[in-house]
Amino acid sequence: MGLLFLFILLAGCIRVTSDAAPAVPTQLATAVPLPTITLPPAPHTATPIPTVLPPTQPLPTAPPAPTLPPSPATTLPPTPAANGFITQTIGLSVEKRPLISYTFGNGPTQIVFIGGIHGGYEWNTILLAYDAIDYFTENPNMIPISVTLHIIPSANPDGQFVVTGKDGRFSRADVAWDTLPGRVNGNQVDLNRNWGCNWSATAVWRDQPIGAGSKPFSEPENVALRNFIVALQPTAVVFWHSAFNGVFAAGCPDLYQPSYDLAFVYSQAAGYPVYTSFDTYPVTGDAGDWLATQGIPAVSVELTNHESLDWNQNLAGMLAVLNQ
Ligand SMILES: [Zn+2]
Repeated sequence: MGLLFLFILLAGCIRVTSDAAPAVPTQLATAVPLPTITLPPAPHTATPIPTVLPPTQPLPTAPPAPTLPPSPATTLPPTPAANGFITQTIGLSVEKRPLISYTFGNGPTQIVFIGGIHGGYEWNTILLAYDAIDYFTENPNMIPISVTLHIIPSANPDGQFVVTGKDGRFSRADVAWDTLPGRVNGNQVDLNRNWGCNWSATAVWRDQPIGAGSKPFSEPENVALRNFIVALQPTAVVFWHSAFNGVFAAGCPDLYQPSYDLAFVYSQAAGYPVYTSFDTYPVTGDAGDWLATQGIPAVSVELTNHESLDWNQNLAGMLAVLNQ
């Protein structure tokens, strides 16, 4: 009797749940349209934006974050122009990480600043570039009307990731103790030994051999950077490096005078020594050297160490170049 009762009870339960089951989808189906018609959309859209954007695209979203809250009520406000810059993915790394350019202004004179070609090993140059992006976002009036400014914070995102574990923006706390593995890209190539003037398969860094790639421009990061810069025909390209404390004028095979003029302007404002060449060890396939062969003035600015951004110095250098 007890078993029979239990069986009836269970059968009843099963029937109840199976009867109830079809009712759930219909209730849900009718419930969904209601909140979208009424007011709930505002909190609904507000929450996903901060949670979705930081993990996927920390680079472009980090600076605009403060300006996002006021606008999301309207249509699709994440338009980059509203933040004072336009972002553009100019290419992908070996490991398919984006190289991103931040563009400010729209004058005819093109000026380019590039951080992190030596990846996480020179992580301070990447943070310097992000601080510059913040600065010009907050101070767009500091960009002359005649200028379009392009900042590429991380020209070797694979090398940045090795040291920081982050794509896009990172903080000092993310930087690993050993930064050396982050100098090269995903193919173990030093991206400042892979350009098309004075290229050598047997490149060195200090007294050690280092990867130069299978041929000039074998690396996708450099192809992207080269194509982007050549299309712009800028009047100045500044690569940030660390840490030799100086501004080095590019040229190949000899010094390119417009590069020296640019180096002089930057160094005078920033207070770094200026050099006509880098002689500590042979540098083959240098990026700025190749640009000089294309008639594009380029310099390497070496920060004083691997930690400091030398912010005041480099802000002065940037403003001097923008206003020259
Ligand atoms: Zn470097």
